[in-house]
Amino acid sequence: MTGIRCPSCKKPNNYSPADLIAVVGDVEVDELMRRMKCGCGGSHFLDVTTVIPSGPEAVGLKIGRLVPIKVKRVPVWKDD
Ligand SMILES: [Zn+2]
Repeated sequence: MTGIRCPSCKKPNNYSPADLIAVVGDVEVDELMRRMKCGCGGSHFLDVTTVIPSGPEAVGLKIGRLVPIKVKRVPVWKDD
């Protein structure tokens, strides 16, 4: 599990690495920090840590689930 914390609003988020790879691709942590943005609009790089939940911690741990990315397809018309 990957924990991402915004230094601006201190909001921690936990994501499954598979979801992150789906969003940003299989990138290094440094790259991930630069690409991820917090919803608060803070311009800080986010702190990315690997979270290994154990025992009671794992219970009730909130994991942000990825909402499928919608790619909008815009038709472009061209006169022949
Ligand atoms: Zn934030």
